[in-house]
Amino acid sequence: MFGAMQDWTMRVTHVIDHAAREAGSREIVTRWADGSETRTDWNGIRRDALKMAQALEALGVKPGDRVASLAMNHSRHLVSWYGVAGMGGVLHTVNPRLFEDQLEYIVNHAEDKVLCYDAAFQPIVDMMKSRWTTIEHYICYDSGEHAPAFEDWIGAQNGDYAWVEGDERDPCMLCYTSGTTGHPKGVLYEHRSTVLHALAGLQPAAFNFSASSVMLPVVPMFHAASWGLPYAGAMAGIKFVFSAVNDPAVLCDLMEREGVTDSAGVPTVWLATFQYCDSEGKDLPRLKAATIGGSAAPRFMIERLMKNGTRVQHAWGMTETSPIGTVGGPTHDWDQLSFEEKVDKTAMQGRPTFGVELRTVSLDDPTHVLPRDGESSGALHIRGPWVIRRYFRAEEDALTADGWFDTGDVAILHPDGTMQITDRTKDVIKSGGEWISSVELENAAVGHPAVAEAAAIGIHHPKWDERPVLFVVKKAGQEVTGGEVIEFLADKVAKWWLPDAVEFVDDIPHTATGKISKKDLRDRFAEYRLE
Ligand code: ADP
Repeated sequence: MFGAMQDWTMRVTHVIDHAAREAGSREIVTRWADGSETRTDWNGIRRDALKMAQALEALGVKPGDRVASLAMNHSRHLVSWYGVAGMGGVLHTVNPRLFEDQLEYIVNHAEDKVLCYDAAFQPIVDMMKSRWTTIEHYICYDSGEHAPAFEDWIGAQNGDYAWVEGDERDPCMLCYTSGTTGHPKGVLYEHRSTVLHALAGLQPAAFNFSASSVMLPVVPMFHAASWGLPYAGAMAGIKFVFSAVNDPAVLCDLMEREGVTDSAGVPTVWLATFQYCDSEGKDLPRLKAATIGGSAAPRFMIERLMKNGTRVQHAWGMTETSPIGTVGGPTHDWDQLSFEEKVDKTAMQGRPTFGVELRTVSLDDPTHVLPRDGESSGALHIRGPWVIRRYFRAEEDALTADGWFDTGDVAILHPDGTMQITDRTKDVIKSGGEWISSVELENAAVGHPAVAEAAAIGIHHPKWDERPVLFVVKKAGQEVTGGEVIEFLADKVAKWWLPDAVEFVDDIPHTATGKISKKDLRDRFAEYRLE
């Protein structure tokens, strides 16, 4: 026997309908690459999404077809999220920072039919056009110089359209992971998984949105669905402020002028903001909350933001998890903690939102599930309704025999549910049979005032198997010696974790999502030897 409640298919079209109905006049502001600004609202986003759905059908796009975007954050990109899903299509958000062969691979692998792109990426389009074999139509978000202009293209429609209905398990978005080895892999989000994930993002223990929230997402819309913000924000009817450029001067100015209360981005965004504010002698923006994720937020960053009155929501996730897995927020004992203890706790990656389950297993024996004792560190597994089952067009599920997804991260689970990432399985350094966390070494090192960036990798050692070597980029105009860096680390990590050498370099390689690429660093120093 079933229960006796109504059927209500969980599709993202409900999300935009709700935003337009309940918060129709709440503004969506865009600061474009050329410096101009436009304003629309949730009503306008929905109206344009209906027209875009019509325009796609007029091009012959069918439900299930993939429509790609190659774009930064702006209102027309937001329209595309709902316009494509609304006609039953799948929006494939392409990361413009991918390398050429990755761009070729993912667009052909996704079999994208239409590409909507920013004029700023015209050089990428020109370079790749002959290599992309499935794209039939190009639309330019800003101007009509080389392809039909988005506004003209949707402007030819009347918006008299009914969203395509279907199953809640239909796909609506496709995101590729940048892939540190091999080809990028596609993660195909469903309407249902997207709605559930956005509901989880809304809770006080996650983004903590209310109708008065004003969010400037610095995380790009092509990076893991912009952490679900365009959906969660629509559910709460918040005001969005988008910037198509990531210049800290522009972002700080917008935050001040538009009354921004919330922001979200990777740690490097805040590094750039700190540097800008310090060099200009300006105060940091007084945000109510900053969500930081994508890589570990260093302790000094958290401390500075918290001292400025900003709640730091340190989040962990990955493209394969939609991406929210855990988010940090006040724990039950928060009010009893000292400021230092609050910072320490926030430096961990937070707790799972409802719907997500975590476990850790031994790195040496994956059948051995580890206790949640705040000490045992192991491979982090996850499961839940917005966690990947199978990569796009793969032959097999990407799960363990008992149904968990192995994240490739190494973590400790604490008794109060807090999760602490200590490394990635591929990056942890094995010294004398014990594990050293490269991430902890790096985070401690960037606390030194002369260190701009640091990366630790394991280098082969004749006696210990591997020993850590720390590669450091100095801040412009600053001097520091290897000995001083090691002395600085001495009271922050275990003695046997201290790097055997500190090497100063001009730059550290990054992946397309701006994270340190340990693989490239290891390749670069493949010949490096320790005595
Ligand atoms: P890409 O490798 O394409 O950037 P993802 O954004 O999916 O792909 O990266 C997910 C990975 O980023 C996680 O598996 C984890 O290693 C790392 N990560 C994400 N958030 C955090 C965090 N708060 N602390 C430490 N590592 C993180």
